[in-house]
Amino acid sequence: MRYIFLSVIFFCSVLFGVQQHIVLVGPPGAGKGTLASFLQERYGYYNIACGDILREHVKNGTEFGNLVKTYISQGDPVPAQIALDALIKPEVESALSMNKPFIVDGFILSVEHRDALLDYFKQQNILDTVYIIQLDASDESIIDRVMSRVVCTTCHKNFTQQDRSCDICGGPLVARDDQKIIVQRLSKYHANIEPVVATLPALCKVIRIDTELPLAQLEQEYQTILLHSGVL
Ligand SMILES: [Zn+2]
Repeated sequence: MRYIFLSVIFFCSVLFGVQQHIVLVGPPGAGKGTLASFLQERYGYYNIACGDILREHVKNGTEFGNLVKTYISQGDPVPAQIALDALIKPEVESALSMNKPFIVDGFILSVEHRDALLDYFKQQNILDTVYIIQLDASDESIIDRVMSRVVCTTCHKNFTQQDRSCDICGGPLVARDDQKIIVQRLSKYHANIEPVVATLPALCKVIRIDTELPLAQLEQEYQTILLHSGVL
């Protein structure tokens, strides 16, 4: 089914030259970043990775970054309208001015965020060209996948296999993430974000993709989907 859906989107976009913008949703570790990088590298998508942009603002100590820090320290998301004005609007405008399709990853955190984003797309007259891609994976497979990511304690290179030592510097490898933190992030997703994601099909076009594959095969899977659609 997903082949058909994706085929239709990419076929139409090639045929009519219409840019299809994407909003990525799904649990942490489901592969949103992998899909975003793939679309960015392969199809020139402009990637608006909200988490990365927020972290960059915090790191650089911008006015917005300092504001973000106060919310994060209280465990709250940045309020929808503030995040929309400071983060989404300038990025979307810059994508559109370059005539590039964009991906928004990590914005829909609440009903307010959903409404702010969809209202903005409506105002910009682009809601019809926005697809929500919802990535699905079970908690079990996400935890397995995330825990299989290892990092060299010496040179900090990332690996995905459970090798015993780094092939660059020979340093020992350790799990990159703490399992407890992943479990917490997943339960937070199920409690707060999943109910919002469930409301999306009534409001816009949603495509669901099951991403229960090892990380290394995932990109291959997306490529296969695009090959089936005749784009590649
Ligand atoms: Zn190393």
